[in-house]
Amino acid sequence: MKIGIPRALLYYKYRYLWETFFDELGIEYIISPDTNKEIISKGMTYAIDEACLSSKIYLGHVEWLIGKCDYILVPRVSNYGGAGTVCTKFQAIYDIVKNTFRDRDIKILYYNIDVKSADFEARAFLKMGKLLNKRKPKCMRAYLIAKQAEKTARIMDEKYQEQLLNEDKIKILLIAHHYNINDRYIGAPIIDYLREMDAIPIIGDIANKKEAITKSAEITDTLPWAYNKELVGSVAMYKDRVDGIILISSFNCGPDSLVNEIIIRRVKDKPILNLIVDGQEGSAGMETRLESFLDIIKFKKDDYSGNV
Ligand code: SF4
Repeated sequence: MKIGIPRALLYYKYRYLWETFFDELGIEYIISPDTNKEIISKGMTYAIDEACLSSKIYLGHVEWLIGKCDYILVPRVSNYGGAGTVCTKFQAIYDIVKNTFRDRDIKILYYNIDVKSADFEARAFLKMGKLLNKRKPKCMRAYLIAKQAEKTARIMDEKYQEQLLNEDKIKILLIAHHYNINDRYIGAPIIDYLREMDAIPIIGDIANKKEAITKSAEITDTLPWAYNKELVGSVAMYKDRVDGIILISSFNCGPDSLVNEIIIRRVKDKPILNLIVDGQEGSAGMETRLESFLDIIKFKKDDYSGNV
């Protein structure tokens, strides 16, 4: 039996958990490749025009996996209880996939998080294991090992980022959802470009989540969405240690359009660039905007240090 995992949306949040869980249970899995032009164009074919670029990309990844595995893991997340709710796409993506590919004979592996209805993370893993004919104690053991692997990876990322924050170079905080900042097509070209220009990208999504949620109240305490709260909190945590902030969103994202506006209005003491990736634009336009933004930051730095 082979499980297919689309490398998009919640993959980037749950990858250590899912991969370690399947490894421990001895279940083979395949992950779709980095987003490429073909995956995007397939996603655009299947999605409705109004959908955000990130969910279009997701459908492209699902399509890539069809015929290459027995089950495709499609998560559904409704809410994290007191930590907040999520964008409706995460509540709907299971049904969207089922409906979009109803003629393609695919089996979906269900992973459901709905804390308000007592569907906790551990339960989601036990249910997946049951569907895959694995015994409950074995699944629980695999889940606990996966939790440890996730924690270790998180701590290493946070430590590495802390080192970067202490470097004496231009540092730019990138605020983008985990599936956008890690996507080869959306976030990765921006990270690559900043590095080429000798600036250090600081990734908001790497911030410690509990601390970020608490700190988010310094900027706004009215947001319903857990992932946006974490990102807003990371702005509060890092803003005084970076030279500028770039907000990166995928085209047509409702939550980001509101949250980015709040950040721009309430964080007055840092240059902020708002970038929206739409899947059509080439890299030249994006690079020009990044170059101008870095020029402004360098100019400000030189000005303060008396070099101009
Ligand atoms: S938060 Fe925005 S980018 Fe993410 S799934 Fe929802 S609409 Fe799409």
